[in-house]
Parts: sequence; C-alpha cells; structure tokens
Amino acid sequence: MTAHSNIYPTKALQELDAAHHWHPFSDMKSLNEEGSRIITHGDGVWLTDSEGKKILDGMAGLWCVQVGYGRKDIADAVYKQMIELPYYNTFFKTTHPPAVALSEKLAKLAPDHINSVFYCSSGSEANDTVFRMVRTYWDKMGKPDKKIIIGRWNGYHGSTLAGTSLGGMKAMHGQGDLPVQGVHHIDQPYWFGEGHEMSPEEFGVVAARKLEQAIDELGEDKVAAFIAEPIQGAGGVIIPPETYWPEIRRILKERDILFVSDEVICGFGRLGEWFGSTHYGMEPDLMPIAKGLTSGYLPMGGVMVSDRVAEGLMMAGDEFYHGYTYSGHPACAAAALANLEIIEREGLVERVKSDIGPYLKERWLKLSDHPLVGEARMAGLVGALELVPDKANPHLPFKNVGTVGTLCRDLSFANGMVMRAVRDSMIISPPLVLSHEEADILVGTVEKTLNDTWQELKKDGHVS
Ligand SMILES: *Cc1c(COP(=O)(O)O)cnc(C)c1O
Repeated sequence: MTAHSNIYPTKALQELDAAHHWHPFSDMKSLNEEGSRIITHGDGVWLTDSEGKKILDGMAGLWCVQVGYGRKDIADAVYKQMIELPYYNTFFKTTHPPAVALSEKLAKLAPDHINSVFYCSSGSEANDTVFRMVRTYWDKMGKPDKKIIIGRWNGYHGSTLAGTSLGGMKAMHGQGDLPVQGVHHIDQPYWFGEGHEMSPEEFGVVAARKLEQAIDELGEDKVAAFIAEPIQGAGGVIIPPETYWPEIRRILKERDILFVSDEVICGFGRLGEWFGSTHYGMEPDLMPIAKGLTSGYLPMGGVMVSDRVAEGLMMAGDEFYHGYTYSGHPACAAAALANLEIIEREGLVERVKSDIGPYLKERWLKLSDHPLVGEARMAGLVGALELVPDKANPHLPFKNVGTVGTLCRDLSFANGMVMRAVRDSMIISPPLVLSHEEADILVGTVEKTLNDTWQELKKDGHVS
C-alpha cells in the first residue's frame, strides 16, 4: 500500500458511511446524499484522501494536531505503554508512572501558581469537571450561594450539558433545553461584528465592562466564576482588542470570583506561549485543556488546578465525587508526554511566537486587500478572514449568512487546502510545524480560493 495511489473504494466507503455513521455537527440528510470526504493518511501538515489527493491541513485537524501527522515517536511511546500497561484506573488510591510523569510535566509548564491536574478524555469533560469543581469549591469555602457561572455569547466550551451551557452558541442551546440553571452569558469582544462604531480600543473596554455589570447586577455573592477562551476559536477566531484582557483583569482583581481560562485551543503553543492566558497576562484559577495536549493522537483532556482551588477542595475526610474510567489513561498520558517532548525539543512554542507566527501573519494580513475580504486577523497561529459582499461597507453581512462561507470552504478543499467556515468568516489554525514554504502555499491557495469564490458570486450576481 502506498499513501498516494487510489486504493480505496471511495464510493463503497461513502455508501456504508451514509448508511451507518452519524456525524457530529452535520446535516446528515444532505451529507448522506453528497457523500463524505474520506481521509486516509497524514504526514506533517499534509493529508491524503481516498482519491490520492494531497490536501494541506490548515486546521490541524480540529485545532489540535500541533506537531503534525505521522510522528513515529508518539506511536512508539503509545505502543510501548500498551504492552506494559494498556489500562489501569486512577481511582481508589492508585496511580501509574505515565500519569505521574505527565502531571509533573504539566505542572512545570503551567504558571507557578498552578501545580495539579485532574484528567478526563476531552475538552467537554474538562468543562463538566470545571462546572462541578467551581461550585464545590465555593460550597467548601462556606459560600454555597456563589453558584452562577458567567460565560460569553458565541463562546465554545464543548458539547456536553455543562459544555453547551457554559458556551454561548444559541443554536446549541435550542437543542436539549439549555443552558442549565445558573449560567449567565455576556457579550463577546467581537469588534468587527459588534463593536465597529467605536475604535477597537474603546470597544475592548466596553466589552470587558459587561462582565463588571453582570457581576454587580447578579451580586458578587452569587457569582462563582467567569469562563472564557483567551481567543474564541469555534466562534470564529474572535481576537479581542488589546484593551480587553487588561480590563477583565482589573475587574476580576476587584472581585472575589474564580477565573477559568479555557485553554483547549489556545494552550500548547497556539498563541506562542504554553498557555493562551499567559499571552494575555492573565492568572487563571482553573485551565481546562485537551486538543493540543496529545496533538489529537489519542483523546485526552484535563483541568489544571491552581493552588488556591486545590487547597480549597482538599479537606481531610471529604472527597470530590467526580472522575472518569479513563481519567489519566496510561496510553493517552504516554501520547501526551511524547507530544510535549516533541513540542519542547523542536521549540514549537517559541517558533510560533518569533518565527512562523509573524511570517504567516504578515502574509495573511495582506489578504485584506482582496475585494471579498472585510478584515484579516491573526494571533499566534490562528487567523480569520471576514468575507463581505461590499468592501466599501465592510460591516454589512451577506444576506444568507453562512452560504458564501460554505462555498469558499468547499472551493478551498477542491484547491487542496482545509480551511473552515464560521458564518462567513474563513478560519485557519495550522499545525505548529508549518514551514515557511508551506505557509506560502497556504496563503497562495487561500488567494486562489478567494478569487474562485469571487468568480462564483459574480456569476450569480451576488457581488458586482
Ligand atoms: C473543542 C473545544 C472544547 C471541547 O473539546 P472536546 O474535546 O471536543 O470535547 C472545549 N473548549 C474549547 C475552547 C474548544 O475549542
């Protein structure tokens, strides 16, 4: 078998997939009629599909494959661990070497005041853990009325009940009668979409003060925590104005509530620091992690716990009744350790900050010259392009929001690159190993895709 020959019966796989596989976040009726794309191989930043076509993965899978595909070191570490001890739990006074080693490693990488980690298998589970941890913490501190958790509209914290509730995706709330009680949402710091009557600096402060207003209205004695992604990923790479996080920091400092930095996307080098909150000078009490922790090679998540919360939760004769069969899974921990070792050895975090990050950003921002692009933005190695119908009035959206984004996404795939659409914003989050040459290919492909999209829209009379 070679990676690039057409050895897969695409049609047969598509038919079976349509018959039996229910996909996440998918319109299954249309998808089954159209047929799924089938990815068969990965190497570095490149994917190969079942037709032998090579595709540049501008999304690092789902924002997670920091070290790129095909890393034998990770596969070897997992293989070795599986032979030694494929599974054992970490309940009932038990641990195992990979869980110990990973915990020590994570504590070293995290800011000084964060020294322990609670394991789970995904970002969603991490946020379910956060939900219970935050409320239990305040109970133990003798403040059982502090129960409300404040999130942000258009934030994303996963798909489970707590994850969906903490997140601010209205379409998700509509399914399952969510959010659950005791979650409050404030506006997001989305300058291009919601704040452009002001300067970004003014708007950043105004958006941050929504938190202050919410806490003061709900009552500080009722509010347990504020949860936010340093940069909202799934919401459309919402990079807050520079004034936002400093103002949030001030507000949190003056009030006694916990701050949860959801690091599931922004952690592990994405913003040029080990954790996104460090990039913004924030000091979180809890940090949910997942995705880049294992570069997606195996599923693993966790909650990094500050000394303050750990000490509050740790009371002799009492326990936190929470845990998962796979908490600290040895093979996943081995994958995480091997992944973190690669990130360190190859200096990938620093590389995002001072090499590939600035290199790609310079070229990415120039895409804002394109007639279809209202704004180009990038931080670390995540970026977005806002597609707009009329560049002279860039804040006017397309009529059927999402249609042009989807068209552009499909054309991008046809042109050999994965780029994701959120509404009519195009999103990238490539592996941290992206080379300069690959960055040039990426930007060149985006340019061609924008031109193709423009031509299609012209044909249909959507732009002039
Ligand atoms: C993906 C994501 C999650 C959920 O992680 P899963 O592993 O998909 O459950 C939570 N928070 C953020 C910020 C995410 O991007």
